Amino acid sequence: MKQRELSSNNIMTNTDLPDNHLIHRLPEVRGSYKADARLGKVTWFRVGGPTDVLFTPADQEDLVTFIKNKPADIPVMVIGVGSNLLVRDGGVAGVVIRLGPAFSKVEILDGQIISGAATLDVKVAKTALKASLTGLEFLCGVPGTIGGALRMNAGAYGRETQDILLWTEVMDPQGNIHRLTPDQLGYAYRHCSLDKAWIFLSACFQGEPGDSGKIATRMKEIQDARGSTQPIKSRTGGSTFKNPDGNKAWQLIDKAGCRGLNIGDAQVSEQHCNFLINTDKASASDLENLGEEVRRRVKDTSGIELHWEIKRIGATSVQDNTKGNETL
Ligand SMILES: Cc1cc2nc3c(=O)[nH]c(=O)nc-3n(C[C@H](O)[C@H](O)[C@H](O)COP(=O)(O)OP(=O)(O)OC[C@H]3O[C@@H](n4cnc5c(N)ncnc54)[C@H](O)[C@@H]3O)c2cc1C
Repeated sequence: MKQRELSSNNIMTNTDLPDNHLIHRLPEVRGSYKADARLGKVTWFRVGGPTDVLFTPADQEDLVTFIKNKPADIPVMVIGVGSNLLVRDGGVAGVVIRLGPAFSKVEILDGQIISGAATLDVKVAKTALKASLTGLEFLCGVPGTIGGALRMNAGAYGRETQDILLWTEVMDPQGNIHRLTPDQLGYAYRHCSLDKAWIFLSACFQGEPGDSGKIATRMKEIQDARGSTQPIKSRTGGSTFKNPDGNKAWQLIDKAGCRGLNIGDAQVSEQHCNFLINTDKASASDLENLGEEVRRRVKDTSGIELHWEIKRIGATSVQDNTKGNETL
């Protein structure tokens, strides 16, 4: 058993770690490793099992060191603030990376907005407002990070991330950094074709010169509209399903009689029925099973197949050998 003295390698744990814990095979870093970290604590749904190691790199150079030196057989994935994630009860094998403060900077340069991948979308929208740049107002209603917005092509009110993106810097699985433009990212509605192993580091967005009063008014309208139509104070994952071509997912779900449907403490929101909520002690499988039940009922009533927008990650149980895989 190795204990807290391992903190020389910035390992945070209150428990003894067995000698075969994969944390002992990870490279020396300046950031922090947290063993057996519960991911429910860092996602909106507040459910799900642990990851073997949660890594917060000190900065970009530290992330490069980690990626270049970690053993090839250890799976790695990056998360933002978990506003679009359902972590299954069996947890996520390997290392989950959460970018920290060194990736949360945002600045205006020559009329463009440069942001780190861990910056909250709302902070980017507010920075654009301060510089009287219009076009980014929609970001104030998306509660994720810029990394999550780039991966999900997050959007609202007729605009998507790809519409404002000039370039993004990404790290490939060998630790090399590339600057890519939107046409290299294979964007579609809530979709990005970039290999899942690549990590978004930063982005440059284009706004248009505008009137700060009008921009502020638009942002307030967006935030008010969200407060009245979405369960934004609940444990949720945002829109559960993508809107099928020519249809609204919530209308299909309503028509299928699923508004308010529940499995245990997992419930289809009464307020917005494309949102699932954890009303108290739901498990990840309660939420996923409820989503699958909604899909079945919608298929039966409308003949339309709904596709998950929420990313489901990890294993259903500790015995599940798909642990760590993402279900599309
Ligand atoms: C109340 C509520 C309202 C919402 N409204 C909207 C909305 O209007 N429009 C909309 O589009 N979405 C909406 N969402 C969903 C969610 O906020 C967005 O998808 C957001 O972009 C996810 O960002 P995140 O940082 O939380 O990412 P996470 O949920 O942590 O991760 C989402 C995906 O992005 C990947 N990812 C995250 N960071 C990186 C990175 N740096 N590099 C590579 N991959 C990364 C993860 O691996 C995962 O696949 C809403 C969610 C909630 C809870």
